[in-house]
Amino acid sequence: MTREELLEELRREFPRFRICYKRKSPLSRAIHWALVALTMGRQRDFLTGYYTVIGDTLYVPDSWDALDDVDCEILLRHERVHLRQRRRYGALGMAFLYLVPFFPLGLAYGRARLEWEAYTETLRATAERRGLAAARDPQLRARIVERFVGPAYGWMWPFRKRVERWYDEALADLERG
Ligand SMILES: [Zn+2]
Repeated sequence: MTREELLEELRREFPRFRICYKRKSPLSRAIHWALVALTMGRQRDFLTGYYTVIGDTLYVPDSWDALDDVDCEILLRHERVHLRQRRRYGALGMAFLYLVPFFPLGLAYGRARLEWEAYTETLRATAERRGLAAARDPQLRARIVERFVGPAYGWMWPFRKRVERWYDEALADLERG
C-alpha cells in the first residue's frame, strides 16, 4: 500500500486522525523540554527521532517525509496500536496507564506494556513486509530493547533480560506463523 492509501485506511478507522509536524507544535516542544529536564539531558531526540500519538494526532519529525512506503506502513501499524489502545482505555485511562504506574521514570510498567503491544506489531509488520530475516536482525532487536531499558522513554522497564525474553517470545510466535 502507498502512504496515501495507508493514511486513508487510518482515517476510515479514526475519522479525526491527523498528522502534525513536531517542529510546528508548541505541545511537542513543551514535551521535548520536559523530557530533557526529566531525563537530565539523556533524551534530546523527542522532536527529531520519535513519532508520538496524542489523542487522534500523530506528531511526526521532519524525517517523516523521507520514509518509503514500507517503513511508513511499519510505523503506522505501530501507531495504530496506540490509537486502538486509546479507544480501548479512553483518553484519561491511556494517560494514566502511560504516565503513572509504577513511576513516571524508571519503572513505568503501564507504559512498557502499552509500548510492548505496539512493538510486537512493529515486529509483525517488519516480518510481513521485509521478511523474517529483517525481523530477526540483531540491530533491530538491540534498538527496540534499548527503547525499553534506556532513556528514550525514561528507562520505562530497565530489566534487559525481561525485555529480551518478551522480544524472543514475540519472534518465536512470528516464526511459528
Ligand atoms: Zn509506541
